[in-house]
Amino acid sequence: MSSRIYWPSNTVEIIDEIRNTIGRDILINVTISGIPCIASGCGILDPVTNLSTNQFCEVCSGLYWTNTLSGYIVNAYIQWGKGEIPIWETGGRIMDGDCTVQLKYTSANVTAVDDSANFIVDDKILIKESVEYRGVPDINRVLVTLKDVEKED
Ligand SMILES: [Zn+2]
Repeated sequence: MSSRIYWPSNTVEIIDEIRNTIGRDILINVTISGIPCIASGCGILDPVTNLSTNQFCEVCSGLYWTNTLSGYIVNAYIQWGKGEIPIWETGGRIMDGDCTVQLKYTSANVTAVDDSANFIVDDKILIKESVEYRGVPDINRVLVTLKDVEKED
């Protein structure tokens, strides 16, 4: 049995290699804001109020601007459970509860994490709890701790 993985702190290529080998794709639903309302009866943007000229639009409630979610797929190293125990050490059992995903540090990934509405990991919906940036001397990965929304009581 292999023991836990020690991520090298300064070699981006090795970290990328490990992630590409044992990582899986996750989907981040990213909030895109400031989309003009597409309802046919919405009216136009009032430049003075920055609202729709139709205050009764059922789609945007007269705000004119709407938000939408866009799916962003990224390869991540996934760990279920609060500990840093790789899945193969738990006998292949997927643990319930909190989850940590580790992504490559890129501006696109950071933006997706920052604007995330939720994360879909192994068909579970999770929300962002905390974000950490790791790497010495340069940041090379992003660790996102996720919370299982279905578990909330
Ligand atoms: Zn509208």
